[in-house]
Amino acid sequence: MELVQVKPLRAGRMRPLRHLADLDQDGRRAAVAELGLPGYRADQLSRHYFGRLADSPADMTDLPASLRQTLTKALLPELLTATRELTCDQGMTRKTLWRAADGSLVESVLMRYPNRVTLCVSSQAGCGMACPFCATGQAGLTRNLSAGEIITQIFKGAQALAAGQLSGGQGRVSNIVFMGMGEPLANYGPVLTAIRRLSDPVPSGFGISQRSITLSTVGLVPAIRKLAGEGLTARLAVSLHAPDDELRDELVPVNRRWRVAEVLDAAWDYAAASSRRVSIEYAMIRDVNDQSWRARALVSLLAGRPAHVNLIPLNPTPGSRWTASDRAVAAEFEETLSRGNIPVTVRDTRGREIDGACGQLAAAHNPAPNPRP
Ligand code: SAH
Repeated sequence: MELVQVKPLRAGRMRPLRHLADLDQDGRRAAVAELGLPGYRADQLSRHYFGRLADSPADMTDLPASLRQTLTKALLPELLTATRELTCDQGMTRKTLWRAADGSLVESVLMRYPNRVTLCVSSQAGCGMACPFCATGQAGLTRNLSAGEIITQIFKGAQALAAGQLSGGQGRVSNIVFMGMGEPLANYGPVLTAIRRLSDPVPSGFGISQRSITLSTVGLVPAIRKLAGEGLTARLAVSLHAPDDELRDELVPVNRRWRVAEVLDAAWDYAAASSRRVSIEYAMIRDVNDQSWRARALVSLLAGRPAHVNLIPLNPTPGSRWTASDRAVAAEFEETLSRGNIPVTVRDTRGREIDGACGQLAAAHNPAPNPRP
């Protein structure tokens, strides 16, 4: 498979430690066998982690005390440490800055809505796709995250929710979006493993329906095609942002490699394979991509296709020369799509005040230590 070659700017100093979530059931049994333990110990540990959200030896009362330490040390190493938490929206939105063992920084964002809780996770530390309106893209790629590091963001978010740490009381993570830092399809293997760990039933995984998982991509065509063969029902979102190659070349530089038509073709294949409509993301940038002719061009591209357009008011990023579209212009753009029978919604963007909204995650740029007491 041909994938974009991105050279890490600052290679991580070490590989992330092996974690329960990196392994399938057979792999876990093999790992406990290395410790001289029978396979069912792996199942017990997995039930604690995926079924009960327990990762501390003290909570694993059905295991002999001596084994709890052995198992957690070998299979539940501390991959990410929360170094800063910021909340807004009366505590309904919370951004966490995580530090990995090698010092790499990533962020994830928990968002409570009236009828769901969405967790936005990072798949890479930094990003190599260099979209000029996205803060993450400005910093470049540090390294890929392991499946364990991706799952840890979700595990800890779920633990915090279960403990009632987000306003609105105890809750569960209902939706997961791969829309944090990084290009998920440039870290294909670990991201696919993470999706399987999310959706596999307990004790293999968390048992969350793939239908509530969304993976957002700039449009790495060979990887989309490969994904279409994995038998997933997770939703695919494509960061289109322009209907024409000329502008998209500038907004999403990888478009120089895979053009709008190729990206959409691959997306329709994924839609057919997953039986899910593809979400087309379109950040509304004033006087750049919000002209009515571009709305009409978008209608032509999407008419009759299994697509849904998600308009995203552009969020401010440091040093960007662009701003969000005028309300009236954005409303007219939306109206043009609706009249063209294209399903369209405007994203209820959260976390702008804490630089936690789409395109604002730039942990590597802002590592100011402000640990929680
Ligand atoms: N790398 C993936 C996922 C990350 S971002 C991707 O590009 O799809 C999730 C969405 O936020 C993408 O559609 C991205 O283009 C968009 N985005 C990036 N910067 C933004 C900004 N400043 N304002 C609004 N949306 C932005």
